[in-house]
Amino acid sequence: MTDTLTPVLTADWGTDRAWTLDAYRSAGGYQALDKALKMQPAEVVEMVKESGLRGRGGAGFPTGMKWSFIPQDNPKPKYLVVNADESEPGTCKDIPFMMATPHTLIEGVIIAAHAINAKQAFIYVRGEVLHVIRRLRAACREAYEAGYLGRDILGSGVDVDLVIHAGAGAYICGEETALLDSLEGRRGQPRLRPPFPAVEGLYASPTVINNVESIASVPSIIRGGHEWFASMGTEKSKGYVIYSLSGHVKKPGQYEAPLGITLRTLIELGGGMREGSELKFWTPGGSSTPLLTAEHLDMPLDYESVGAAGSMLGTRALQVFDQTTSVVRCVLRWTEFYKHESCGKCTPCREGTWWLVQTLQRLDGGQGREGDIELLLDLCDNILGRSFCALGDGATSPITSAIQHFRDEFEAGMHTPSRELFPPAASTLF
Ligand code: NAD
Ligand code: SF4
Repeated sequence: MTDTLTPVLTADWGTDRAWTLDAYRSAGGYQALDKALKMQPAEVVEMVKESGLRGRGGAGFPTGMKWSFIPQDNPKPKYLVVNADESEPGTCKDIPFMMATPHTLIEGVIIAAHAINAKQAFIYVRGEVLHVIRRLRAACREAYEAGYLGRDILGSGVDVDLVIHAGAGAYICGEETALLDSLEGRRGQPRLRPPFPAVEGLYASPTVINNVESIASVPSIIRGGHEWFASMGTEKSKGYVIYSLSGHVKKPGQYEAPLGITLRTLIELGGGMREGSELKFWTPGGSSTPLLTAEHLDMPLDYESVGAAGSMLGTRALQVFDQTTSVVRCVLRWTEFYKHESCGKCTPCREGTWWLVQTLQRLDGGQGREGDIELLLDLCDNILGRSFCALGDGATSPITSAIQHFRDEFEAGMHTPSRELFPPAASTLF
């Protein structure tokens, strides 16, 4: 169990012009690359495996194991793709990270590309965040000029090229196979898995796709050693992560701490709840993860504990809501988002999210009909597990969990608008 912040990825966020190559090198940047290039690729993979690093994009798949799936006897080129399409509602860790210290990510990209024998890497960034794209491109140019990218990196014989690719701003392009379609120049829609990208990904070649934070964690593992990394966190959820704390707290922001810390501690470290606010409900990993309540304040934030509580750790987007928030209105806002972002490829999600919004709008407006709660649950049942990708499943999570914890508020929606029950106040988020 842990009760302190452990800044590693965020350690230099306060440094003057931390995003420049000079500042990064002054803080020991690119020393891990030097070390990794002297190691065999398989040794790097083994070290990351031993560290216990799990994917920081939400699913928590072991990173080293994913790298080891790349078939090295396949004569096709291997690719590394960084998923920087952060879009999960409430999640805001990768974007500030790339703005603050883009070279940490670039160093991680080169080490990971070396580990899987990829000569070409891509960072796929959300198109809306032009400032991040510019910063990454500037850092990429600096890395090429300094000989960290390109041919024969630091005289090692290793070649890695990096392209910063701007997406066009669709949530679905954060789904790894839709991202690949988009990167190949097509409309971003999910592909059937298997085959997983590790076997058949970009241009039908073996491809590793990792989240920004996963790749950015690699230089510190190489520098500090896998034992150091694994000494933090819990038995099966190792290391430190960035939590995005938002909502009715005094100091929302990014907090870096080991896996296994509790929401209670993070809120305390963040100055506590706002004056007069009491925790009503929260999301452990963005709106795609089932809501939890004050009952779960002391639950360790690791994959296993959150899973045992009926939710998912996901992206660790801790959105905290107080008693002034209407859960019905909040869930309606999120569902409108899923309806808008549904790519339309499969019927349960395309049609289902539309019907969910219609029903939630009635309940939010106090014009719910008899049987609307059952209708919502039935719609969710027909989406969950029947959709083509995780977006559809995720859309049902806030609804089913909100009905489970706050059924009375949905029942009130039969006769009273949520705006009357929860009049908008200065502190109201939804
Ligand atoms: P997943 O569990 O299906 O896969 C996770 C990763 O492991 C993928 O890269 C996949 O290719 C790989 N993998 C899994 N099984 C494999 C196998 N047998 N062989 C080879 N590789 C294998 O999860 P997902 O659908 O990719 O992602 C869902 C997660 O995304 C959710 O948990 C959610 O929290 C997260 N999410 C994140 C954001 C964001 O903005 N960061 C947005 C939406 C969702
Ligand atoms: Fe597209 Fe939704 Fe189906 Fe995913 S679940 S493929 S986003 S329609």
